Amino acid sequence: MIPFPLKSHTGPLTRDLVQEPGNFGLGKIPSRLKPASTTTSICGYCATGCQLKLHLDSDGIAINLSPQADYPVNLGMACPKGWQALDPLTSTDRATTPLLRDASGKLLPTDWLTALDTFTTRLKKIKETHGPESVAFLSTGQIPFEEMALLGCLFKFGMGFLHCDANTRQCMATAATAYKQSFGFDAPPSTYADFEESDVIVLIGANLCIAHPILWQRVIRNKRSPKIIVIDPRATETAQAATQHLSLKPKGDLALLYSLAHCIIRDNRIDPKSIANTEGIVEFSEFVKDYPPESVSLRTGLSPETIEALAFDVSESGKRISWWWTMGVNQSHEGTRTAQAIINLCLITGNIGKPGTGPSSITGQCNAMGSRLFSNTTGLVAGHDFLDPAHREKISLNLGIPIENIPDRNSLAYDEILDAATAGKIKALWIIATNPFHSWIDSEKLAKLRANLDFLVVQDIYHNTESALAADLLLPAASWGEKQGCFINSERRIGTIKTVRKAPGKALSDFRIFRAIASSWGCGEMFAKWTDPEAAFKILRDLTKDRPCDITGIRDYSHIDLQGGIQWPYPEISKPADSTSEPAAERRLFADGFYYTPSKKARILFSPPTGLPEAPDMEFPFLLLTGRGTSSQWHTQSRTAKSHVLRKLYPHNPYVEIHPSDASRLGISSHSLVRISSRRGEMLASAYIAPTVQSGHVFLPMHYPQVNRLTHSSLDPHSRQPNYKACAVSISSSENHP
Ligand code: SF4
Repeated sequence: MIPFPLKSHTGPLTRDLVQEPGNFGLGKIPSRLKPASTTTSICGYCATGCQLKLHLDSDGIAINLSPQADYPVNLGMACPKGWQALDPLTSTDRATTPLLRDASGKLLPTDWLTALDTFTTRLKKIKETHGPESVAFLSTGQIPFEEMALLGCLFKFGMGFLHCDANTRQCMATAATAYKQSFGFDAPPSTYADFEESDVIVLIGANLCIAHPILWQRVIRNKRSPKIIVIDPRATETAQAATQHLSLKPKGDLALLYSLAHCIIRDNRIDPKSIANTEGIVEFSEFVKDYPPESVSLRTGLSPETIEALAFDVSESGKRISWWWTMGVNQSHEGTRTAQAIINLCLITGNIGKPGTGPSSITGQCNAMGSRLFSNTTGLVAGHDFLDPAHREKISLNLGIPIENIPDRNSLAYDEILDAATAGKIKALWIIATNPFHSWIDSEKLAKLRANLDFLVVQDIYHNTESALAADLLLPAASWGEKQGCFINSERRIGTIKTVRKAPGKALSDFRIFRAIASSWGCGEMFAKWTDPEAAFKILRDLTKDRPCDITGIRDYSHIDLQGGIQWPYPEISKPADSTSEPAAERRLFADGFYYTPSKKARILFSPPTGLPEAPDMEFPFLLLTGRGTSSQWHTQSRTAKSHVLRKLYPHNPYVEIHPSDASRLGISSHSLVRISSRRGEMLASAYIAPTVQSGHVFLPMHYPQVNRLTHSSLDPHSRQPNYKACAVSISSSENHP
């Protein structure tokens, strides 16, 4: 039996770190909030990053909210999720005490010291028996980056493990990989003002009206009468509101983008000045010769004339053209090359680094961007590289930890961690603020994984998510609104969140839980300076020095609030001596034509399109598309289902969109139950018959747990992001089945 360390060498007592009452350690409600009647916080759902004004009672407790009028992101607007952001905090499903599974298999309440003792003892034993690669964690893009960084540094530098990833792999890994390879750093170049300053806005695989409704509001504020072009297999809400909808065949996007480049280069509609800042144009020009519109027409479902017209629209001289993409590109078996094909078009036409231009990914989760820089999972903390000895030395010196504690190789990716757990190589898994038992592709495979795990820890704000119900140990966490920290939105803007409610029962902030684990593990002294989120922020800020994401010019949280959020980079050297002169509210990257590669040139990257990983056939003749259902639903609905208002705004049960001609042929009537089957599983859904999908396609909203029983385990080879968007299914009226 490994003794339970009640005290780290210099850190606080473990029992103090988890001491009741429940709000202890979340950061007291700042006294400066009393008797002020409002404070602000960035919304905790999506990466639009709207700021909310929280209305407080005399004890500093939030009693209501409204969108912040003068924040440069949302300009006084919020979607239903933001308006109802306080609802999920009071759910009776909140995890209020640690739960430990007993010998009979029941999850029973326990106290924090027992929970931490169990956590430490079990993981140390597994490490001792099976080695440091036998334990992994899967984290999230939903918590402040100070918490992500503490978790990643604790796990790798303090506890001595290697393998970890976050659910940002399901969301933005493709965009991050595309930027890193093309620009030399994961650097989305645009700013939201570009929505309002473009002449041509191309939305590809992006349903802004539903997924990012406030960004759609920014589009319709554009006073330049922009042409809005939506490229999407579905007639989404955004496609219906656009100037033009190009209803292409699923995964015809890469061939289409190469064909556009073919036309633009053929007609010399290029920007030589921008191309001078790139590498690979000669090879690319040769490559796209094989993609004349006539040759990709069949593959894309678009006529050669349509492709030629689009090529003209996206290369017109003197026009500002911006491209924006989300999961329709990212969640694809060739998403990285597709994102880079968009980047290539912007590079060759000079639509980058200027107002109203740019290739830009619109991120999903509220802090996916924070995860990409600070989580210490796929990259070394603060935008560094585990494989670079100089980076390891810098982090070692700055954090005061032995260099041998910093891994010199990368972690397994999300899918590889799950595969290793299923194979019995990873024996223990720690899941933080995410729900893979619902959200992972081909989700039925997770049951086998669970059976092969010796120990599953889930840290969550609810006790009954699909993943929490499978846990051996549940650690109850404080939610957004109950803790402090920072998020980074899709335009690289750092904003703060505040403590405006008490966490229920014994729930603790993730930050406090990680500190308690550090103490329990015996490495508390390594994190002695990480006393609270703002102290952690300053440590992380200093680590960014001389990296593209350098934010050493940011003083503290109040500086961020004062400026209406601050976009990275903001290095110390750029801070004006005159403190009244602060950074512009909107900033974009690459205005100078210099990129982050060794040559300072952007790389034009490409490779031939490949076929669908699972194309329809005789047995499974339909192609299943998945995506967001409504603006009132968020991912696995662990939070949005807890709001009685939001629940009224979306269908409780799953529905499937079917084209009228297919429904008629199969005898499926409106609202009847339909069975949808793939090679991996099946589900029932109510028929929604509409020409929003093409004949031969069906669409399911991703929020229902049954949907990922059907999806196919295929990945983009560069980003290892799953391909959620296209797999083969059959459909039939459920009345034809017993
Ligand atoms: Fe929150 Fe996103 Fe809605 Fe804004 S658009 S209120 S950030 S969920």
